[in-house]
Amino acid sequence: MKAIGLVSGGLDSSIAVALIRSQGIEVIALNFVSPFFGRKGFLRRTMERLGAEFREVPVGEEYLEIVKHPRFGYGKNLNPCIDCKIFMLQRAKAIMEEEGASFVFTGEVLGQRPKSQMRNTLRLIEKESGLLGLLLRPLSAKLLPPTIPEVEGWVERDALLGIAGRGRKVQFALAKRFGIEEYASPAGGCLLTDPLFCERLKDLLEHGSLTFSEIELLKLGRHFRLHSGYKLIVGRDEGENKALLSLVQPGDVLFFPQGGKGPLGIGRGTARPEDVHLSAQIIAFYTKNGAEKTPILVRRSGGTSEIFEVPKCDTETLVKLRIPKG
Ligand code: SF4
Repeated sequence: MKAIGLVSGGLDSSIAVALIRSQGIEVIALNFVSPFFGRKGFLRRTMERLGAEFREVPVGEEYLEIVKHPRFGYGKNLNPCIDCKIFMLQRAKAIMEEEGASFVFTGEVLGQRPKSQMRNTLRLIEKESGLLGLLLRPLSAKLLPPTIPEVEGWVERDALLGIAGRGRKVQFALAKRFGIEEYASPAGGCLLTDPLFCERLKDLLEHGSLTFSEIELLKLGRHFRLHSGYKLIVGRDEGENKALLSLVQPGDVLFFPQGGKGPLGIGRGTARPEDVHLSAQIIAFYTKNGAEKTPILVRRSGGTSEIFEVPKCDTETLVKLRIPKG
């Protein structure tokens, strides 16, 4: 008997794997990876220790459509949890069929999250993913209608759990019992649940196009929206300056402070002369020097360079343009 498990790096999904493995069932553990969530260095080790085969599954560009237009809406931030789960489970179902596995399971716990883990939502996710009867939630199984794996006796229902709600006491005890030492915090660090990141993402959804490389840019530096067609990104340290350089695209305007320690700036979009000037002033604000004016080298796409001598941008303007505000 073989099953497909979805694992995030969180404690619940690792416990689900341990419970299924403890019934002697072979497990392929899928970890979906996207620019917003995924890759946990320790997860492969944990799965190997539990005797499960570990696979990372990149979500691909189609996932971005879900972020833009979730059929079932967003959670508290820009997290389209219901659509996201359906998306992953549909892929898990395809892998189940390819691998000749018999069912899919997750670490979901009834009532743990306000929107996506309520009884009717769990049912909706199961139906929409095409896994009706074949989706097992081992941590809450005893509180849910029996699934085909339980009815058919592929899985012993009595050895599954009946956990509900946000409490973690039972999970911590089980982690100890199964020797699961490494796990991520609940929500697993998904950026779509991070209010600050979501402010930037909202700005991108309103003014730009959602691509993997634009999302990587949202993770770095300070962001300023000068007008609907142009924004400036400013590195916060050497590491970020370097990372920003690797994300430069044709058409970007680059800003390098001269004569002082300061950040790299990337201007993206349609830069009018006044935008270039204001961007240079913002870079000057973050450049450490005592001078009244700071020389900023401005390099446009096509390779032309020019030096602007500018005063530092005033704080009020800076605060007004910053994403998120403040
Ligand atoms: S928290 Fe993030 S990864 Fe988890 S279901 Fe929601 S959108 Fe998907």
